[in-house]
Formats: sequence, C-alpha cells, structure tokens
Amino acid sequence: MSPALRPATPVIAIDGTAASGKGTIARALARELKFDHLDTGALYRAVAALVLRAGGDPGSRHDALKACAGFCPGIVPEAELRSAAVGEAASQVAVLPEVRAALRDLQVRFAASPPGGRGAVIDGRDIGTVIAPEATAKLFVTAGIAERAHRRWREVQILDPAKTYETILAELRQRDARDAGRAAAPMRPAQDAILLDTTDLSIDAAVAAALEAVRGKLEA
Ligand code: C5P
Repeated sequence: MSPALRPATPVIAIDGTAASGKGTIARALARELKFDHLDTGALYRAVAALVLRAGGDPGSRHDALKACAGFCPGIVPEAELRSAAVGEAASQVAVLPEVRAALRDLQVRFAASPPGGRGAVIDGRDIGTVIAPEATAKLFVTAGIAERAHRRWREVQILDPAKTYETILAELRQRDARDAGRAAAPMRPAQDAILLDTTDLSIDAAVAAALEAVRGKLEA
C-alpha cells in the first residue's frame, strides 16, 4: 500500500471460506462499531454476472476483462449477485490476476478512506494478506465443510428445493480448492490473523466472539 493510502482509521479484515459466516459477522461488526462495510465477494460476483449476461465464459481472460471494463459498483442487482451460478463464476474470474488488479484500487481506497470516516470492515479472501496487510484486526473465519453445506442447503431450500445437500457439498469443496489453490492472492489466513471456527457457534455467539477479538485489537 502506498504511504498516501495508509489508512488513518481502523481497518478490520475478515477473510474466510464460503458459508463460514464471515459476511454475517462482517455486517454485524460494522453495525456495532459504526464502521463502513465492504463485501468484496460482491465485486467479483458483479464481474462474473456481467460475463454471464454477455453470454461469455468466466474462465476466459478476454471475457472477464471486457466485463471489468463495464463494471461499476451497484451495476448488478443484489438478487442476481447471490445466485449459485454467479458465485461459481465469481470464483473462476477471481483466479485471473488481471481481474484482481482491476478491482484492487477500489478496495484499497475504501480501506484508506471509508465513506463514514470512522473505520472499515472488509470481508473477502485476501483482505488481511493483500488488500490491507496493515489492518488493525484480522479474522479468518471458517467452519467444518458439512456444517457449511448444511447452512447453504437451508438457504437455497426456498429458491431451489431440488438442489441436494450432496451437490452443495461438492460445489463448496470445489470452490474451497479453487480459492485456496490459485496462484494469485490465494485464500489463506494472514500470519497474524485470529482464527474463528464457527462450526458449533450460533450466529450470535460467532458475532460475540468476533467482536471480542476485534475490540481487543482496537483497544491495544
Ligand atoms: O464471498 P463470496 O462467496 O461472495 O465470493 C465469491 C467468490 O469471489 C469467492 O469464491 C472467491 O473466488 C472470490 N473472491 C476473491 N477474493 C475476495 C472476495 C471474493 O477471490 N476478496
């Protein structure tokens, strides 16, 4: 990060696996601390959605970069961002270093000067390692894969009741492997990240544990 972009306000970096609860935790922390929240997965999802809308291939560098050129925050509605197809395509475009580079500035600027001026909570896969390596607090949130698959399965029941637990489990396995195995900014805990395993925690207990860990860093 260039010195000009060194954040003057606290940055909370929350990385972790899909369906670990990191998004819920990030939103709750932002609300509690009155910080601004940036869901960086939504940026990759938006690029992926633009590729799919254009009938392109999310694995194609050409198609993904064309989508990046047409990207601006808010361009894709939330419902479209949250589809399983877009999530899968997001993890494909996210492998490409050029896509990561195209989305980097927006994230670094948010960390350096969040709109509310109090602090930033940013969640994703590489926030503590690449986007905000000097973050005030870093959490890496995960949960056992069977529990994560159950959570996803419960979520998709209304929209897609035919989707089986086994399919979701296989999709999560593939996503974990792609996110952790890619060469560019792979998903991994920063060396100084606090690990939070939410397998046996309720949402309230996970948020409370995260808040306690983050407060410890903010007050240090
Ligand atoms: O967190 P979410 O499931 O919305 O992210 C969708 C995909 O975007 C992830 O599987 C990952 O491949 C990619 N992503 C990333 N880096 C981030 C955030 C998301 O590579 N900081």
